[in-house]
Amino acid sequence: MAIRTVSELVKQGFEGIEKEIVECTDCQLHETVTNRVISKGSRNPRVVFVGEAPGKNEDETGIPFCGRAGKNLDGMIDYMGLSGDDYAVINTIKCRPPKNRNPLKSEINACKPFLQAQIELLDPKVIILLGNTAEKAFCDGEKLEWGVPRIVNGKYTLLKIYHPAALIYQRSRIEEQNNLIDSNRHLWE
Ligand code: SF4
Repeated sequence: MAIRTVSELVKQGFEGIEKEIVECTDCQLHETVTNRVISKGSRNPRVVFVGEAPGKNEDETGIPFCGRAGKNLDGMIDYMGLSGDDYAVINTIKCRPPKNRNPLKSEINACKPFLQAQIELLDPKVIILLGNTAEKAFCDGEKLEWGVPRIVNGKYTLLKIYHPAALIYQRSRIEEQNNLIDSNRHLWE
């Protein structure tokens, strides 16, 4: 496993990080991946959405949130009133776990320097954690309450809401999600 520090990755900039991710073999997921899924959206965003792990469509295309869950995310972004320059989308881990299983803790930890370096470079005001896997990467086992923001190091605000994929089969959660968004609009407006 390569030893990478976050500060070294940050010094390499977006292109350097992308190259490191493409060449990475730091966890077993590199053996089965088709395309690494790195990011989409603005490089100077107010809001960064952090998803879980790439799924089948993402693995095939290398684009985050490009399937049905992506449509739900787009709907959420519209509802939040954000435009293309306002946000970026990244994943907790960059390679798809086989059969869409949940990422292992060891995989989340192996990929964490990339996530942290991406966040440092993007430097958002708000980080929206889409579900529990993203929370695991940011909160070291501590639980955030759904929709209750937390300021970290006086630097940025973390907010956990439902993963867009969870809304596909639980339509009743859409209204709940909208309420979580409504009560936090001041964070990005
Ligand atoms: S998931 Fe992350 S740590 Fe694992 S091989 Fe892919 S880029 Fe490397």
